[in-house]
Amino acid sequence: MATLELSQFYGLMHATIPVRRVLTEEILASRVPAPGGVARLRETLEALEAIPEEPAGRRLTLEEARPIHVDLGYEIEELKKDLVYLDRGEDALLEDLAGRHAGFREDVQAVAATLGGTVFQTLVTDRDGTVNNYCGRYASSVQSVYNAVFLTRFARARARRSVILTSAPLDNIGLADMTVSPPGAFICTGSKGREYLDPKGHRRQHPIDAAQQAKLDLLNRELDELLAQPGYNVFTLIGSGLQRKFGQTTIARQDIGGSVPEERSERFGEEVRQLVRSVDPDDTFFRIEDTGLDLEILLTVEDADGGAARDFDKGDGVRFLNADLQLRMDQGPCLICGDTASDVSMLQASLDLAPETKAVFVTGKDELRQRVRDLLPGAVFVDEPDALVAALNGTSRC
Ligand SMILES: [Mg+2]
Repeated sequence: MATLELSQFYGLMHATIPVRRVLTEEILASRVPAPGGVARLRETLEALEAIPEEPAGRRLTLEEARPIHVDLGYEIEELKKDLVYLDRGEDALLEDLAGRHAGFREDVQAVAATLGGTVFQTLVTDRDGTVNNYCGRYASSVQSVYNAVFLTRFARARARRSVILTSAPLDNIGLADMTVSPPGAFICTGSKGREYLDPKGHRRQHPIDAAQQAKLDLLNRELDELLAQPGYNVFTLIGSGLQRKFGQTTIARQDIGGSVPEERSERFGEEVRQLVRSVDPDDTFFRIEDTGLDLEILLTVEDADGGAARDFDKGDGVRFLNADLQLRMDQGPCLICGDTASDVSMLQASLDLAPETKAVFVTGKDELRQRVRDLLPGAVFVDEPDALVAALNGTSRC
């Protein structure tokens, strides 16, 4: 068969979003899912599995028929799990998940034991790697049906308010677009909690200094010009792509599969650094972080105590949301879920507000586990997002 273009692949994945939203609503309402939606997901899975597989990954094409190899593990496996769930039900899915992850049932038990029958004042959770499996590309990291159903049940039964706090963009290929759970079940926030959609769907954001915003706008315009040059489009399509967030812009220079020749990737990285220097010659406004895959251009913030400029972190996000959304986190136990060091600041912020905070971290890394335990000795750890999500679903019926 003719190979698929990368943009056509994104089209296929985006077409599953409305289908999955309807299926999720149907299951939550205890209706039998309409067969048409399930058939659409099956066709999508078949289309993805028909993409030629080579040692470097599935082969798609870019402009001018240049090949690009991508790992479609997330997209394919989440569709398979959805089909197990939709065709054969929840017990069959849990069986499937237990077969995929060693220690799955023990992890589910451990979370259930820790959460007990608590009804939480607020759930604040990271998304990717925590309550959603990792995907190499944000733009195709569509939430699966089983995931949306499980999380929504917990949000409705066990928490007064539930917030998804991510560093990803909020919309324009952001969290709100990839989310399949029903409107209002979760407050979707982006950019480490600096922007969110309120329960009526209105955008709200952390105040930002006008001079800083003007600099960021200028930087974004210059970056758009660079990316419009021939041959640069690839950086918007691989990995994290171009993500314009509140107070931060991310541009991919590589993806996990190493789709871009390393020399080309390095050269592009240098071009972006030069561009930032031209906009901000004295390093007053921005700091660049190079993850090896992404270049993150961050606006620095003044410390609340008037201290040195630093980056806005997810703990700042929790404090902002607690005030702006009137979460009243101080008035009851809260639950914090994360999977990386950047999520620890959410736990600290929650503990400052609500000493009864509980935490689940999805990590096998001893160092991170220790950091979390130092803050909260009773924190519980699991190895996979699926275990946390299944446990949340299980406890929503207590
Ligand atoms: Mg994460």
